[in-house]
Amino acid sequence: MKILVQKFGGTSVATLERMQKVREKVCGALNHADKIVVVLSARDGETNALLRLAEQWSASPDKAECDLLVSTGEQVSIGLFAMLLKDCGLRARSLLAGQIPITTDDDFGCARILDINSAALLSFLNQYDVLVVAGFQGCAKDGRITTLGRGGSDTSAVALAAALGSVECEIYTDVDGVYTTDPNICSTARKMDRIAYNEMLEMASMGAKILHIRSVEFAQKYKVPVRVRSTFTDDPGTLVTQEDSTMEAVFVSGIAYDKDQARVTLHHLPDVPGVAAAVFGPLSAKGVLVDMIVQNTSLDGHTDITFTIPRKELKPTLAIMQEVAPKIGATEVLHDVNVAKVSAIGVGMRNHSGVAVRTFAALTKEGINILMISTSEIKITLLIREKYVELAVRILHDTFGLDADRPNRPCPA
Ligand code: ADP
Ligand code: ASP
Ligand code: MG
Repeated sequence: MKILVQKFGGTSVATLERMQKVREKVCGALNHADKIVVVLSARDGETNALLRLAEQWSASPDKAECDLLVSTGEQVSIGLFAMLLKDCGLRARSLLAGQIPITTDDDFGCARILDINSAALLSFLNQYDVLVVAGFQGCAKDGRITTLGRGGSDTSAVALAAALGSVECEIYTDVDGVYTTDPNICSTARKMDRIAYNEMLEMASMGAKILHIRSVEFAQKYKVPVRVRSTFTDDPGTLVTQEDSTMEAVFVSGIAYDKDQARVTLHHLPDVPGVAAAVFGPLSAKGVLVDMIVQNTSLDGHTDITFTIPRKELKPTLAIMQEVAPKIGATEVLHDVNVAKVSAIGVGMRNHSGVAVRTFAALTKEGINILMISTSEIKITLLIREKYVELAVRILHDTFGLDADRPNRPCPA
């Protein structure tokens, strides 16, 4: 039985007309697959509206109740879409995560999928040609509804594709593939035919919201080919796939940015063993995700530690740091929210030197100051002032010739 998983994002299901377009895609897919599992997001803006409601009702919304609330956005989408499919005579039904179930841990707001009952899904597929599954949501072992983090419907889709051995997981969105950078801020961005899982993972974790990070982790782990494409065109989109040797010919394949950043500095603390553990231990215990970390060279036995976090974590982080600072002898806790990250990514970086220098030189030429630097094997990330981030994206895109007529990565025949 050939099963295809298709996921449609919030803009694709926002109105009746758009859902009718989605129905065309699903009906078209039934010509070359036996069964379709459709994963839907909430209609555009709905999740934000529900989160705003929670904040109006409560000063500190209970995380489990918040998940129950925001998961309703996807429930509305699947109910409406299943009706449309039935109207045209298809054997279809909606499924909430708990009805399958898609079991997760109980980390509300950011739950991880532990198990999917694929036997139950296969038995539903014996009765129906199309299953319409609510993305973004899961079900903890005690039956409570969880959500997988913002953008998590991508992860629902790839996890379902892995569980069902789907031939491919198609992610339909409002752009026709993965571009060399966000096409909405750089008009010369070019669509890639293919991108390696590793590169996509770095792009997603460095802020490119085209795919949820965990969806790429799943795809890489279970070798699920993922195709990102548009609901509104017939373009074949971008295949996210295994790396091959031709991909290394291009040493920077994309530029990502992330404005959701804040920087915290602990000033003038004693440079003695245990200080870093004392700073980052309590943050980790509260689930705060620290990203870049820089510790200065010791001067007169003292140092500074600077780190970045997502902006929404600033308040709890500062509260923790106010407690930690006096205990470890730091004289001041400083913070800055007007910062953003820009990253150049490419598997080819492994074999090419000089990428970092070209990156620094390009920003220097435009007078953009670099506040922090971090690197990995296939990525270089710079923290800069937020007001320069779009300019920096365009400069780096140009510096690495991403809009030029360079050989792209055609799919092998
Ligand atoms: P959906 O609601 O369909 O999940 P998202 O808004 O989550 O859609 O993701 C699509 C958006 O991702 C695009 O509109 C685009 O602005 C943004 N984006 C960021 N980086 C890239 C990139 N490298 N290629 C394509 N789109 C990107
Ligand atoms: N509706 C959720 C969100 O807006 C999940 C998703 O769209 O993937 O984050
Ligand atoms: Mg998304």
